[in-house]
Amino acid sequence: MPPTVDAVIVGAGFSGMYLLHKMREQGLTAVVFEAGTGVGGTWYWNRYPGARVDVESLAYSYSFSEDLEQEYPWQERYPTQPEILKYANHVADRFDLRKDIVFRTRVTSAAWSEEDKAWLIRTEHEDAVSARFFVMATGCLSAPKLPEIPGIETFKGTSYQTSRWPHEKIDFTGQRVGIIGTGSSGVQSIPVIAETADDLTVFQRTPSYSLPARNRPLRPDEIAQMRENYRAFRQEQRKAAPACRSRCRPNRPSKCRTTNATPRTRPRGKAAAW
Ligand SMILES: Cc1cc2nc3c(=O)[nH]c(=O)nc-3n(C[C@H](O)[C@H](O)[C@H](O)COP(=O)(O)OP(=O)(O)OC[C@H]3O[C@@H](n4cnc5c(N)ncnc54)[C@H](O)[C@@H]3O)c2cc1C
Repeated sequence: MPPTVDAVIVGAGFSGMYLLHKMREQGLTAVVFEAGTGVGGTWYWNRYPGARVDVESLAYSYSFSEDLEQEYPWQERYPTQPEILKYANHVADRFDLRKDIVFRTRVTSAAWSEEDKAWLIRTEHEDAVSARFFVMATGCLSAPKLPEIPGIETFKGTSYQTSRWPHEKIDFTGQRVGIIGTGSSGVQSIPVIAETADDLTVFQRTPSYSLPARNRPLRPDEIAQMRENYRAFRQEQRKAAPACRSRCRPNRPSKCRTTNATPRTRPRGKAAAW
């Protein structure tokens, strides 16, 4: 008989970590399977130079623990990938999550048994677990997509993909580099790689629209203000339109709710929020 738990969760990114914590709180037994060697999901895999979150740190963080909100020492308005990964590891340690996470293990199949009223979940290592609940916390952007370029396999140079960046530092000094794509990862990595590469060519199919991030260190007074108002801020976050979540402040929520605006007032609201 395979071991039985109440729930199997796939993925130890922000979603899977929270799910594990929440299920424990509800008195359920749960195990998380994670293909990578550590927690953090997106922020574990995407280690390319310049990787950074585009939502403010005080907002792109867990809301389930007031103590965590009050304690965590965010440094920058838009933290780097290493800083977010450090936060994910901190949360894993603080809430003792690792003991129920099985790393280096990809889930390969799941089958529901009507007779047992349970899922049978199998992994790449041929082990199996039985569970009543089976939750995919696999993320919306966790499967890498290689560009379909005829002959790409014959390229003689070194190639990297932002979503599977090596864990060690890559030195581009003296190198001739080509970067394909100007989505968020391209926009973030291009200026950083350009600092050391000898020569950099960017291949762009479709231009994207980018705004200056206006990143800067967080000021002690704004951290204090956020900590004082965190509950109200989280309420606003839940109600706000997705792209506005980091901009809302408890004292100016209405500007962020574009659904409240008319076509005439909307541009003014957006400009004020920006
Ligand atoms: C480059 C990049 C930048 C981003 N920037 C932002 C941003 O600035 N702001 C923002 O709000 N969002 C951003 N996102 C979106 C980001 O994915 C989410 O904010 C969030 O981190 C998703 O968390 P998650 O736990 O749902 O999924 P993920 O973080 O994707 O975690 C899913 C995990 O599931 C694991 N997994 C998948 N399949 C299996 C399997 N079969 N077996 C075992 N494990 C498996 C993966 O290894 C992964 O660790 C970005 C995404 C990417 C890729």
